[in-house]
Amino acid sequence: MNKVLLFYPPGLMFQRGEDRCQQNIDEGSAQSMRACNDLGYAAAILLEKGYEVKLRDYQTEKVGMDELHADFSKFKPDLIMMSITNTTIFDDLKLINELKEKYDPVVVLKGALFYDPEQAMLDMLDLSHVDYMIGGETDFAIGGIADYALKGEGRIDDVLSILYKNPQGGFNFTKFHEWGQDLDNMPFPARELMKNELYTRPDTDEPMATIQTARGCPSNCVFCLTPEISGKCVRFRSPENVLAEMTECYNVHGIRNFFFKADTFTINAEWVKKMCTLIIESPLYGKIEFTANSRVRPLKKETLELMKKAGCFLVAFGFESGSDEILRQMKKGTTVAENLQAARWCHEVGLKFWGFFVIGFPWEKKSHILETKKLIMKADPDFIEITVALPFYGTPLYETCKENDLLAESPLGSDFFHSSMKGTMYLSLDEVMKLRKNILLSFYLRPKYILKKMGQCVNQPKVFLNYVKYGIKLVVNLMKR
Ligand code: SF4
Repeated sequence: MNKVLLFYPPGLMFQRGEDRCQQNIDEGSAQSMRACNDLGYAAAILLEKGYEVKLRDYQTEKVGMDELHADFSKFKPDLIMMSITNTTIFDDLKLINELKEKYDPVVVLKGALFYDPEQAMLDMLDLSHVDYMIGGETDFAIGGIADYALKGEGRIDDVLSILYKNPQGGFNFTKFHEWGQDLDNMPFPARELMKNELYTRPDTDEPMATIQTARGCPSNCVFCLTPEISGKCVRFRSPENVLAEMTECYNVHGIRNFFFKADTFTINAEWVKKMCTLIIESPLYGKIEFTANSRVRPLKKETLELMKKAGCFLVAFGFESGSDEILRQMKKGTTVAENLQAARWCHEVGLKFWGFFVIGFPWEKKSHILETKKLIMKADPDFIEITVALPFYGTPLYETCKENDLLAESPLGSDFFHSSMKGTMYLSLDEVMKLRKNILLSFYLRPKYILKKMGQCVNQPKVFLNYVKYGIKLVVNLMKR
């Protein structure tokens, strides 16, 4: 039987399963590692096809190279798949070269960087030991690659959104900008191979499963890879199929917390209503809790009320900016008034909420970033994260930065906390980073905020300790800069 090893390499903890949020979580605020669903889906598909599969998330298990080499020596995989990030790509490739030379497996890399890439970007990388690169959705590609590479079955050109080695040199591209549609027929991630206890809810430390409910986003945010990689047409799973996965998580794996991963969970109010109603009418009601992300448009207060009733403990909004001018330029399709309205509704409904903000866009002056600070204080979210605009390949932001000579030497090897931009047209990167630090400290160190958080966990000492832990981590990280 052919053997496949799917893994995240040892090292810092990056959200390697993400396309648009692939940051290092050690440098962010209160975020924990999300489950490695990209590996989990790939494992489930390969198991169905009769392969022997091993899955390891060495980075989150906090084990080193010794263990990785022990697995290679003992398991002897015929094919390996590793998830890469834009930030870690150079180190990832060094490791792949070493593994290929020592063990000679078929090498598959998976990452947003390989979505219909420019030749100039590929030329920056040593891909001599790589056989296949998946730029799109792993679950629709890995089975076809394994069958072709290991059994000589199928046509590699039929596999969507991949690059494969051309014996004459370079790589051939298959079809990009097409997406698999049948999400309900996908097996659930192979959680029996995942160490589910590693992926936890930040406040309680309980295991939290990531459940992908939909893919794609019709919006045009200039910094985001989603419309490019997952398409502008939203593909939903049926609520029944999502509930079946939740039930399996609860009954088989003892997981009662869920992150509903969708580019915008609330984009279709009718779908959310059906999902929440199903949960409320199911045996899981009152036993499970979930979190999800949302845009502030479209959004209804009734949707938030129903989500809260069904067990939502936190909703995360991409507010992005407190300046209407910057929101317009980043093509967010929302306004500051809508940001404030969403925040007000959450306060009224009693639903905790995260605010995500991005600063350092090419058009931003100090006054724009201070408007964002004003919005943050006024909206008063439970938690915030401020990232610095990162021009991913394939996004309109990348083109704008290129045209305005704002790109640092290489747009690779950086992340949301160390942007590859030189700064904005008006501010240096250093000035942007100082503003980020100022806003985060001003927000989190407010006596009113600290007292509110202490009040929220009077009877939950573990939650209180986690708040303190994340608070200290954030302050230490900010002071290092
Ligand atoms: S709303 Fe914008 S940031 Fe969010 S997934 Fe869609 S395009 Fe990306």
